[in-house]
Amino acid sequence: MKIVIAKTAGFCMGVRRAVDMVLDASTRYQEQIFTYGPLIHNPQVLQMLQEKKIFGIEKIPEKGSGIVLIRAHGVPPEDQVALKNAGFTVINATCPRVVRVQVIINRYAKKGYATIIVGDKNHPEVIGLLGYAKGKGHTVTSMKELFSLPRFENAIVVAQTTQNVSFYDEIKAWCQVHEPHYRICDTICGSTEKRQTEIRNLAEENDAIIVVGGKESGNTRRLAEIAAGTGKPALHIEDASEINYEILSKAKSIALTAGASTPNWIITDTYRKIENNLQKKHAVKAALYFFRDFLLKTNILASVGAGSLTYACSRLQGNDRNLHHALIAMLYVLSMQIMNNLFAIRSDRYNHPKRALFYKENQLYLWTLAVLSGGAGLYLSFLSGVVSFVLLLIMSFLGLSYNLKIIPMSVRKGKIARIKDIPGSKTILIVIAWGTVTCLLPAVVNHGNLLSVVVVFLFATGLVFARTVFFDILAIQGDRITGKETLPILLGEKQSFAIIKYTLIFEIGLIIIANLVDLLVNSAFFLAFIPFCMVLLVRFFEKDRLVSGEHREFIIEFLLITTGLASAVI
Ligand code: SF4
Repeated sequence: MKIVIAKTAGFCMGVRRAVDMVLDASTRYQEQIFTYGPLIHNPQVLQMLQEKKIFGIEKIPEKGSGIVLIRAHGVPPEDQVALKNAGFTVINATCPRVVRVQVIINRYAKKGYATIIVGDKNHPEVIGLLGYAKGKGHTVTSMKELFSLPRFENAIVVAQTTQNVSFYDEIKAWCQVHEPHYRICDTICGSTEKRQTEIRNLAEENDAIIVVGGKESGNTRRLAEIAAGTGKPALHIEDASEINYEILSKAKSIALTAGASTPNWIITDTYRKIENNLQKKHAVKAALYFFRDFLLKTNILASVGAGSLTYACSRLQGNDRNLHHALIAMLYVLSMQIMNNLFAIRSDRYNHPKRALFYKENQLYLWTLAVLSGGAGLYLSFLSGVVSFVLLLIMSFLGLSYNLKIIPMSVRKGKIARIKDIPGSKTILIVIAWGTVTCLLPAVVNHGNLLSVVVVFLFATGLVFARTVFFDILAIQGDRITGKETLPILLGEKQSFAIIKYTLIFEIGLIIIANLVDLLVNSAFFLAFIPFCMVLLVRFFEKDRLVSGEHREFIIEFLLITTGLASAVI
């Protein structure tokens, strides 16, 4: 069976922006943060906010203090004034596309036009829009309600941004025939339109549809209605525990989509659970997937990748086929990765629920493995020489201190800082650590040519940078929730993808040029194939969400391992 994830599934721009704004506010300000009403209609996100002590207020008190964030749906203008008058600092996270509708209504209301809003009168967005209609607003949710409205001399017709496109088309067609003087505005958000079109197309190509998202979320409910209307078996679930596999039993392919307020981690988790459930029927596949997940969760794959890269760095400089430093790199990376996963159990609940559970249940064994492998790595480096040992020791302390509160804060007022709090620190630290163990440590011992070492160091760190930023993009929502400062959080997904691609293209050029000017061994250009493959994969993954997170991680880690395999022949 095939599972297809809709390209449009998950947070829309407005919701992502509002969630980002509230999370940024919670890390930036000391004051209590509130949202005016629930930030979005998704129970898991609301629970996550409560865990971060961000609560919703339903009524505006006479007096208050702290920061209030206006959610993506917007509010009536008088509520915004009342919040400020009560003493709150207001951060307006109204989606720019909703603001556009507010502006349209306000402009025409000033000229005396009536406003007909096609949308649910109890929905927060519609309540906010009505506030701009200066008492001349009317809502309709059916043709019958439209017919029952009086005839207006001047009126505008707008839709709630998440309205059903076909229904609004019907309204528009009727108005054009019967009330041609009404001004009709196209206010359905492009994101909603795309989502609804995609679900219709997916329903044609697949045997069943699962819509993931809050039962209170209007846009998710509309998606579920459209899915049900296609005649295919359709489920609307808030999370994977609600899946009725009986209904799906005859389906050969399932389309998975999600509302605009559904975070990525819920979509990923649902995908994994369906995948797991289906695998149970295929023992071989299940065993292979279990093995893949085990290698990923325990970081064995990452550590073999580090060993391979070390070997490749050595071979590029024409050093002996000696595996001593590859082993040190493997042990170091295994130890650091496991420890960091142990420290990150909380954030992994969002990005890697299975991994978080695995680390929680096996803490003792994993701590033992991390300490033993770290110790073994240090011992082997000591055998290589004092400089090698000291370098690895420094990198180990840096790796360990990443999550610890060690630095009196100067970057953010009044808080104790960890290296983790420095913007982009996670990505940079991993790249430096890997670059040191895979390239610098062996170079120190082998007394490599300085220029060759620089080239190889850039090659190793470039590949690790691309790998790390790519993984950070996959984990962006969970990282933001837990306040991790990764590069994709600083720069955004689009720019991060662009940086990965530029880095890899630079790598290809670097290896070819260094080979031509004899800075590396004869057939070094062969290794340019690795960044080339990575560029293609990253381009593919950027556009296509048909491949699950685990597959993507596995493929990228495996590609790093191929550096060692490829360099064995040069
Ligand atoms: S659905 Fe569209 S209008 Fe509504 S919050 Fe999302 S991006 Fe904004």
